[in-house]
Amino acid sequence: MASTGSKVITLKLLIDSKGKRVLFAEAGKDFTDFLFSLLSMPVGTVTRLLSTKGMVGTLGKLYQSLENLSETYMQSNVSKDTLLKPQSSVLRGSASATLLSLTNDDNVKQLYSCGSTFGTNYYSSSTCPCHNEYVSDDPKAKCPGCNNLINKVLTYVPPQAGTQVGSAAADQEGGFVKGVVTYMIMDDLEVKPMSTISSIAVLNTFNVKEVGALEEKTVSVGINEGLSLLKASLQTKTVLTQVFLGK
Ligand SMILES: [Zn+2]
Repeated sequence: MASTGSKVITLKLLIDSKGKRVLFAEAGKDFTDFLFSLLSMPVGTVTRLLSTKGMVGTLGKLYQSLENLSETYMQSNVSKDTLLKPQSSVLRGSASATLLSLTNDDNVKQLYSCGSTFGTNYYSSSTCPCHNEYVSDDPKAKCPGCNNLINKVLTYVPPQAGTQVGSAAADQEGGFVKGVVTYMIMDDLEVKPMSTISSIAVLNTFNVKEVGALEEKTVSVGINEGLSLLKASLQTKTVLTQVFLGK
């Protein structure tokens, strides 16, 4: 797997060396954003990223069937890539580039408006029936009002940050979660804010008697680990143990 200019995230693991398992990971905003961004991924993208062979279940077969299906069976206005390389529901510029979306930036949704210049001028808007009110996610779409291509690139503007006191600085960071918090990621990818009490509670839950058997380990998460995490999340409840301890 190529690591094209990939960004690397570090993660601190608390390992029970006796039980050979990851109890939990201590993560910052970057890793937590990465995990949550998996939820915005279309199933077609997940299938493509994991390669059809790596898929458990039948989605791989379904994907391959469409790949092999001749274009002649498809509706003329539909490209197979709509399904094979679907766009994420996340709009371009609305979230920070995360591990896996960095590699397929083309799949982030882009919106277009009618390219007609008439509609932008209020005085002559009566001569253009479309008023630039049509929008598309495909620059090959034709405006039903003026018949021009709907190919003018629009810029996404996220909602104004800082409507709550003290939130302005954090909200500028983009992504999903706030940056000042440390997050606790359980082996089954349960995510919660980290606290001393919560870590002690976890040790209790896992019945860890010997603190000496606990080991702290810092790992790097690049695109390969990102893909492994995505794959493991669909297959097991011990994701961190499987990816980082190779079990
Ligand atoms: Zn138009």
